[in-house]
Amino acid sequence: MLLHLSNLALGPDPEAADLHALVALRIGRPPVAVSLLRKSLDARARPPVWRATLCVEVQGDEVPEAPGVRAWSERDEQRRSGVVPAVRKVWVRRPIIVGGGPAGLFCGLRLAEAGASAILLERGGPVEDRIPAVNAYWRGKALDPENNIVFGEGGAGTFSDGKIYTRRRDGELGWVFHRLVDAGADPEILNESWAHLGTDKVRAILPVLRRTLVSGGVDVRFHTRVDSFIVEDGECVGVRVTRSVAGQDGEERGRSETEEIRGGPVVVATGHSARDTMEALLACGAAAEQRPIAIGARIEHPQAVIDAARYPTGRGDLPAASYRLAFTPPGSSDAAAYTFCMCPGGLVVPAEELHGLVVVNGMSFSTRMARWANSALIVQVPVEAYRPHERWPGDPMAGVAFQRSIEQAAFAIGAGAAPAQRVSDFLAGRGSTDLPQVSYPKGVVATDLAGVLPSAVIVGMREAILHFDSEIPGFGGDAGVLIAPETRTTAPLRFLRGADLQSTTVRGLYPCGEGAGFAGGIISAALDGFRVAEALALVENG
Ligand SMILES: Cc1cc2nc3c(=O)[nH]c(=O)nc-3n(C[C@H](O)[C@H](O)[C@H](O)COP(=O)(O)OP(=O)(O)OC[C@H]3O[C@@H](n4cnc5c(N)ncnc54)[C@H](O)[C@@H]3O)c2cc1C
Repeated sequence: MLLHLSNLALGPDPEAADLHALVALRIGRPPVAVSLLRKSLDARARPPVWRATLCVEVQGDEVPEAPGVRAWSERDEQRRSGVVPAVRKVWVRRPIIVGGGPAGLFCGLRLAEAGASAILLERGGPVEDRIPAVNAYWRGKALDPENNIVFGEGGAGTFSDGKIYTRRRDGELGWVFHRLVDAGADPEILNESWAHLGTDKVRAILPVLRRTLVSGGVDVRFHTRVDSFIVEDGECVGVRVTRSVAGQDGEERGRSETEEIRGGPVVVATGHSARDTMEALLACGAAAEQRPIAIGARIEHPQAVIDAARYPTGRGDLPAASYRLAFTPPGSSDAAAYTFCMCPGGLVVPAEELHGLVVVNGMSFSTRMARWANSALIVQVPVEAYRPHERWPGDPMAGVAFQRSIEQAAFAIGAGAAPAQRVSDFLAGRGSTDLPQVSYPKGVVATDLAGVLPSAVIVGMREAILHFDSEIPGFGGDAGVLIAPETRTTAPLRFLRGADLQSTTVRGLYPCGEGAGFAGGIISAALDGFRVAEALALVENG
């Protein structure tokens, strides 16, 4: 029989570990065969140790009584093989997918497996157009509001660290990972618990994914922005778009054309920076509710500070060290402040889509060789905090207005440069007048972040930093810098879906992914795209 065995310590060198012997020790008998499912470095152990999850074959049909051992399940098999059989059917209409981020792309892939030739509409360009547009912005050229770090093929995950892990542990995870490997990702990602791709690898994977979509019958249309949704008799039956058209002889895209595209169902996977599309969804009658958000700043340190804390006896060949920290105040059961999206060996990057805003985020390359380490240091903000931004009671866009007010305040302080403060000054409650060198490519301005972030957020960040400094010595020291604001870690609203994943108020409309409030990262967005595609395949006459 097959067993699932977790948390097996492999020692400091996983290649040298004798898996058979270690498994025999754990289960009290020799295994017939052993295969590695995942491994991860436990940097908290002294010295750091690799731990593994394995598939183990044993004789007999009794599960041995040993810690971390259970019978192999169908879900385990799906996760390992990546095979999830698709429901195939004859599609009456062509589904429309709005958005070419992870949710939209993986929804399109799954629909293709189910025999549907969807139309995928993406407001930005293919990744080959996006890279020069983003580089030009970082060098000082005007921001392109349609083709930037958050809009364009691959969505917000293209210029990222490409961390591809999630807390979700269901069978489709294997499907997503195997599709990434099919598109050129290193098969090692199948075995890494904390796998990351790096922006360079993501950029290489996207054109392959696109070719797979196109050969599966998906019509991928770039530079096509959905402006509104066509709803007839309570059902979404298409979209109105604006296409920007390139001039002749390589002239820049200047002309635009509008068009109605009919089809359905309509999947809206436009991410949480497409605030105009959120308004369009509300205007067509889609119901939504407010959500708590998290606000804060990127905290950046020299990578050496993190390595020294995690690897006290030296880093050697170990990867750039990372951390994941949470601060729960005494007497509370929920973390008030925590780090998120840590990028070892990475850069802090500008992530706004419109002129007049400053938003920061983190990115790294596959080698994670940059001199800095950064993470979002964020504080939970309840919906009550942004009530003053409501246009009417319960206004689902109030959280967006709150985010925008912070992003505008940040822009005003530095005229586009990001406000920044030394961590030591931040803790002492005084503005910074100078800064060490930072990774941020568009310039920073030394300031007091109290002029940018709400006071409750400042207080929460201060408490957390003091607490985290005991875990990572130097975290609160003079070498650290806070660069603000980090406003978009979570969508500030959620579009309401029924059990069939349709909007509760507009039939044929499927809010999907992060912008709809159902994902928080590359893989969870891809999984939501998969789920929505599965739901579409079950709809009669879809
Ligand atoms: C710099 C950065 C680094 C990140 N790092 C990581 C990381 O390492 N790991 C991780 O898990 N997550 C990371 N994230 C978050 C992650 O990228 C998102 O959670 C994920 O991309 C959400 O996927 P999505 O498909 O729901 O939306 P998005 O990725 O936001 O995609 C939405 C797409 O829809 C398009 N669109 C929007 N409006 C319209 C319209 N009206 N018409 C047509 N198209 C439209 C956009 O152009 C975009 O391509 C990072 C984000 C950023 C910005």
